[in-house]
Amino acid sequence: MNTFSNEEFDFSFLEEGFTARDVLEQKINEVSLSDDKDAFYVADLGDIVKKHVRWFKALPRVTPFYAVKCNDSKAIVKTLAILGAGFDCASKTEIQLVQSIGVPPEKIIYANPCKQVSQIKYAASSGVEKMTFDSEVELMKVARNHPNAKLVLRIATDDSKAVCRLSVKFGATLKTSRTLLERAKELNVDIIGVSFHVGSGCTDPQTFVQAVSDARYVFDMGAELGFNMHLLDIGGGFPGSEDVKLKFEEVTSVINPALDKYFPADSGVQIIAEPGRYYVASAFTLAVNIIAKKVMVTEQTGSDDEDDSTSDKTIMYYVNDGVYGSFNCILYDHAHVKPVLQKASIKRLHSIYNFRLSIFLI
Ligand SMILES: *Cc1c(COP(=O)(O)O)cnc(C)c1O
Repeated sequence: MNTFSNEEFDFSFLEEGFTARDVLEQKINEVSLSDDKDAFYVADLGDIVKKHVRWFKALPRVTPFYAVKCNDSKAIVKTLAILGAGFDCASKTEIQLVQSIGVPPEKIIYANPCKQVSQIKYAASSGVEKMTFDSEVELMKVARNHPNAKLVLRIATDDSKAVCRLSVKFGATLKTSRTLLERAKELNVDIIGVSFHVGSGCTDPQTFVQAVSDARYVFDMGAELGFNMHLLDIGGGFPGSEDVKLKFEEVTSVINPALDKYFPADSGVQIIAEPGRYYVASAFTLAVNIIAKKVMVTEQTGSDDEDDSTSDKTIMYYVNDGVYGSFNCILYDHAHVKPVLQKASIKRLHSIYNFRLSIFLI
């Protein structure tokens, strides 16, 4: 099993016309000749930059706060910090990582609605004020441990059409939202806005429209109770690759008019989002090695006659990474991985090692 250390990364600028794919092939060729055939990743940081440019083109009013849990590699966090993105952290470890790179606390939202008390205290001591909540218990925890917190109320969405549903775990209903706002008033906790997450791999952009309209409703309830709400957080759920039913721009072309309708530019509401997969899904390529091979033969006897029996051959290949490592996305995120054989290596390796393949998955 592979463990990829977060400290270790080499980074180089590529010459014109040289792609991340070329780097990958070069490295496969290098390691093929050595004993070290551990799996490795190649990340195309240029792809992250392109995603960032594409984000602002498609969602000019929305500041991205990258969801660190999607990939906490320092190379990614540093790149996004330099580009000026904010960060959605789900734990003390993620806050520490982002702050170690020099990101100021204003650019961090602690977007986990159910937090450990010691970590709320940590956020308070490190100046992180924006945090989400969706229950009364959380309100009381924050009131006691982080008097300067600026809370963002996370509302539930209809995520029935998302690949990974999140509203089962998180998000208050509109009815509960009123109760929570009233309770926050009693506890003297500041509520600065509303957040939601439509679910990862959202396949219906109308979910965003409904959620933005629900958020408006909660803003109005907040105003009635005397809160000055000025932050809308439209969460994550944006596609990060092109092999999806609904393309990024198809989603954003539906979101923009909803934002303009419910939160027009002159409303003074700042709009942020928490894209995770959007930024990193297409940037990484994992190279694995085939480390074992088995031929499985299933005998199928058609009749008593020996000559009629046929056999089905299945070849099983074993690679040096798996579902307890990089491929946990298959179990947790319903990801579909597309293996690609590294053909040049196959040919060469055939002659060198008799039979050995290098494959990489994208
Ligand atoms: C996972 C997560 C995200 C990122 O979701 P994507 O679908 O990868 O964009 C954003 N916000 C919260 C609170 C999350 O839990």
